[in-house]
Parts: sequence; C-alpha cells; structure tokens
Amino acid sequence: MPKYRPVDAMKAPRFTGIGSFMRLPQVSDMAGVDAAILGIPFDTGVSYRIGGRFGPAAIREASRLLRPYHVEHEIEIFDHLSVVDAGDLSIVPGNIQASYQVMVDGLRPILESGVVPLVIGGDHAITLGELRAVAGRHGPVGLIDFDSHTDTWDSYWGERYTHGTWCRRAIEEGLIDTRRAVQLGIRGSLYGSEDRGGARALGLHLVPTEELLQRGIESVLAEVRQRIGAGPVFLTFDIDFVDPGFAPGTGTPEVGGPSSRDALRLVRGLRGIEFVGFDLVEVQPQYDSGEVTSLLAGTLLHEFLALIALCRRDRQGMPGRAPA
Ligand code: MN
Ligand code: MN
Repeated sequence: MPKYRPVDAMKAPRFTGIGSFMRLPQVSDMAGVDAAILGIPFDTGVSYRIGGRFGPAAIREASRLLRPYHVEHEIEIFDHLSVVDAGDLSIVPGNIQASYQVMVDGLRPILESGVVPLVIGGDHAITLGELRAVAGRHGPVGLIDFDSHTDTWDSYWGERYTHGTWCRRAIEEGLIDTRRAVQLGIRGSLYGSEDRGGARALGLHLVPTEELLQRGIESVLAEVRQRIGAGPVFLTFDIDFVDPGFAPGTGTPEVGGPSSRDALRLVRGLRGIEFVGFDLVEVQPQYDSGEVTSLLAGTLLHEFLALIALCRRDRQGMPGRAPA
C-alpha cells in the first residue's frame, strides 16, 4: 500500500514545487489513503461579497509554511496518517443544484473508501452538499459548527439554497442529529429578534461569542463534549468565526470575535471525537491582508489533521500520551 506524506522540507525548500496542500502528493485513487484534502471552489451561494472560489488555491499556497510535527499534541501527523491532496471538484458556478450533485458524486467514493475528507471552500452553502454525502454513508451526524452566523434563515430573495440557509435545509433533510449539534461563536447584528430563536427552535444549541469569551474555552469545551457524545461528527469551520482583525479575508465579517489563538485552542480541545469529515469555508483571498486569513485557514486544517492522527494513534495503542 502506498503511504502518502508531504515533501521533506529538508530536501526541497518549502517555497519550491507545485502548490498542493502542505505539498502533499496529488492523488485521486483512495487506496492506502486515510485523509484527503478536497477543494470545492463554489462561491455563488453568497448573500454579500463574492470570491471564495479562490479560497482553495490561496489556502494551499499559504499551507507551504506548515510543518509535519504538531507541538502541543506531541504528534508526528504523517507517521499515523497517509494524506493526499485530491484536487478540486469541478462545480458549476451559478448553478447550486448541479454543483450539489457534483459534491455528492465527488465525495461518495472518498467516504466509501473510509477516507476522512477535509474540504476547502468555497462558501458555506457547500456544507449541505457535503452533509448529503456524509449522511449517505453514516446516517444523521453530530455537528460542531464554528461560525458567527447560524445559517438557519429560510430563504434569501426567494432562494432556499444559499450560504445563509444550508443549516436549516440540512436539518429539514434529516442530515444532522440536532441533539448532538452545537454552534459556537454566534454574534453580530440580525435582521430581527427572532433570528436566534429560529435556530434554537430547530433544536440547535448556540454558544454565542459573548458567552464563549465570558465562560472561557475549557468550560465551553466540556459542554461541547457532553452534547456531542459518541458517534460520527462533522466539523464545519466558517472562517468568520474568528475576529476580522485576524481573518479579514471573508465575505460577511462580524467584528468582536474570538482570536486566532482562541480558535486553535478550541479545535485542539476536540481530541478523541469521532470526526468523519471537516470543512473550512468562506475564505475570500481578495479581501485578505498579507495572507493572514489563508494561513489561519491552513493552520486550522493542520489542526484537523492532528485530531485524526491522534485518534488513529490512540486507537492503535501507539506510544505517546494516554487517550483523552
Ligand atoms: Mn456560515
Ligand atoms: Mn458566517
């Protein structure tokens, strides 16, 4: 079986070579693969700024800087995981239904091979397509959603499929087990006082930014673990969860958010959860500054890879820290 890992930076400097994620091999055959990076550059589900179609390319470019050893978890990620960059899906700009079909068809063989997909968006509308594929394989899944918005509005201008409505559609379609779902980081002005109530009426558990920062990361992590419990979980990370001071390159920024350090610490605290898929959405490089948003996005994907590697190592009883 092949074992896939990034190019060794001591043999070829990090600024050389074609820009796949972390300079991983570009492979579409899932034999011998544990996790696969997949770009979904669909961005015509947005309600404000546009440009997430260039997110995957920018995040791959920024990810050159990342190194294989994760210090806080004390793990050599690619000793435990064979990872590839499976390229981008050829979505249809402006046609969300056709694009959803491309997403389901593209993700199905990855999921059926037992590979964990790490998707780079694209706008948040893509998460509905991903969840259709994931639920097709695992049934309704738990959801950890980092976002400053609930994305549970019913429609925009009569359109029911957008980046602000995907979560309501996913619940209506039975793709999410809402008893095992939590949304972290909600903040910002609303269209009306009923907006948050609408999300809660769907059964979602909200931890607004204000509560998150007041209670602290450890307290919130304990609550997330308790709600999520055992079973398959999908993690979706809308980069606008993070304060626009740290992540300006996005479509609907909300000021007053958690820092990039808060975000990394929250994700690190999710070790031991059975993740069956991840995505990182809403990066718009044209609004970025000095690649700060793309580098944060790439670093979060590196954190996701570390979580999968920890699960594999702890399950196999490899040397290292005891399972959480
Ligand atoms: Mn969102
Ligand atoms: Mn958002």
